[in-house]
Amino acid sequence: MNFYEKAIIRSESFIKDSILKYDQLRNYDFGPTKRDNVSGLSPFFSHRILFEYHLIDKILQMHQYSRVEKFIQEIFWRIYWKGWMEMRPSVWDNFLEGINSIKFNRKDYENAMNARTKLSCFNDWVIELKEYNYLHNHTRMWFASIWIFTLKLPWQLGAKFFLENLKDGDASSNTLSWKWVAGLQTKGKNYLANSRNIEKFTNNRYSNIPLVDTALPKNDFFFPLIQKLPKHHNYKKYPNLVILDTDLFISDRLDLMKKYEKIYYILLDNEDRAIQISKNVYNFKKEIMDDVSQSLPNSYLISSQNFRNQINKLEGIDIIYPNVGENLDFIAKLSEETHLKTNYLYREIDLLCWQYCQKGFFNFKKNIPFILNEIRNKHL
Ligand SMILES: Cc1cc2nc3c(=O)[nH]c(=O)nc-3n(C[C@H](O)[C@H](O)[C@H](O)COP(=O)(O)OP(=O)(O)OC[C@H]3O[C@@H](n4cnc5c(N)ncnc54)[C@H](O)[C@@H]3O)c2cc1C
Repeated sequence: MNFYEKAIIRSESFIKDSILKYDQLRNYDFGPTKRDNVSGLSPFFSHRILFEYHLIDKILQMHQYSRVEKFIQEIFWRIYWKGWMEMRPSVWDNFLEGINSIKFNRKDYENAMNARTKLSCFNDWVIELKEYNYLHNHTRMWFASIWIFTLKLPWQLGAKFFLENLKDGDASSNTLSWKWVAGLQTKGKNYLANSRNIEKFTNNRYSNIPLVDTALPKNDFFFPLIQKLPKHHNYKKYPNLVILDTDLFISDRLDLMKKYEKIYYILLDNEDRAIQISKNVYNFKKEIMDDVSQSLPNSYLISSQNFRNQINKLEGIDIIYPNVGENLDFIAKLSEETHLKTNYLYREIDLLCWQYCQKGFFNFKKNIPFILNEIRNKHL
């Protein structure tokens, strides 16, 4: 079974059996082997094995909006964070710079990353993160809060630790959620985990956790400028196409794909990443890309290091726009070093949604009915 088929099976069983109870049960973390109350679709969304707009359309053909609103809204959170970051790419750069410049207590940091703190729940989550490469959303919030306010470690190192180990690791959802917990995203409002809440939503698996329950939000005096979004375009310019692991959805572009001489599926080696991913995550990405790259006769999977050796043969490349993050940084660096010409292909629906990400989610949310109409009318 390929990854697309796996994603379809998982999404169909979730839509059939669990989506109507999602609103009521989604905040519970029953443990790593009991995940029926959430979809578990994030690794498929973050690599765009599943196209989020398709799934939304499919759900709405089966259920009334009011009955599945919460789940659809969560997918829109992902879309919103993406758009917010696309308008402010300096937030990603600032995060990466922070990793290398912040001061911290190395021993505390190593204890946290190796599950050697005094908090048994936190230690368990560290182990779970490394073993399953996934954490429940509520647990991610508690984890980040404990990291920042109880263990007093810099948020940037926690966000890095997540990106190293999550199969769904995503530059925007991850960075902006960590900033949100710290009180840097909604300025002045931090998220403080508390023992009672953890006890209730882990179904009493943990209790009486000695947490810091009063702490001021962090402040970074960083106010990113808003950048204009690019104009939509999806035209072939060069004979070869590059696809990266953040947008692997191709079935809506098959006619276009056939026009290319070669399609390179580039998987970044750790040498080409600012944040090195774990073996598990790397192997997962490789399996996915192996799978997808076999679906077209003119496509090849290639490592970023090997792609460098191909560049002198290319006059320029078309690239499926990979979003702010490691992939975009790699292409930008490569093109700067080698003067390789690049032509990004965008998706109309992404740009349509991103234009509403200037302000907060509340403002974005007002546009959801209009976006849903577009999804329906355009049969995306
Ligand atoms: C500190 C922190 C770090 C995070 N890092 C990531 C990350 O690197 N990559 C990532 O995809 N998500 C991240 N999230 C968001 C969220 O935790 C995961 O998307 C979710 O837990 C994935 O599990 P699921 O697919 O079962 O979610 P479900 O509850 O089934 O939700 C369905 C889909 O909606 C989206 N979604 C749900 N909750 C959120 C949210 N809070 N923010 C954005 N999108 C959401 C996801 O695409 C998810 O697959 C982070 C959240 C926090 C608090």
